Amino acid sequence: MAIRKIRTFDDEILRKKSKIVEKVDNKIKLILDDMVETMYNTECGGGLSACQVGILKQLVVIDVGEGLLKLVNPKIIKEEGEQIVDEGCLSFPDVWGKVKRPIKIEVEALNENGEKIVIKGKGILAQCLSHEIDHLNGIVFTSKIIEYINFYKN
Ligand code: ZN
Repeated sequence: MAIRKIRTFDDEILRKKSKIVEKVDNKIKLILDDMVETMYNTECGGGLSACQVGILKQLVVIDVGEGLLKLVNPKIIKEEGEQIVDEGCLSFPDVWGKVKRPIKIEVEALNENGEKIVIKGKGILAQCLSHEIDHLNGIVFTSKIIEYINFYKN
């Protein structure tokens, strides 16, 4: 496994759409493992998408304290409610803002063995799934910020 370099700010790969993974093979598993290691190497990362390490494939890893998820081709099949949450992103160090996210979400994906799974998330997991799937569509969270949060004011 290896820690990969996280792309930041104006890097144009963060605004591009990621491609569907046709086959979940060992190469894909290796990328997922590298993404997990890269995420755990950060101070506060709850999720990471492949585009953030420079790979335009629909791959996401998430750990918000409810177990590690490795998702291939994740797709939102249901969204419910709204929550305004404080949010950050590993690609935008030190940028924080309030963002609107669904309270509940249902996501269909493949796991690292290529098996179809459905993830039902609420609260922070719903927020994180929504944020990471946005990445796969080239949408960065800064485009959704309602209000910036300055943690360094005082
Ligand atoms: Zn992000």
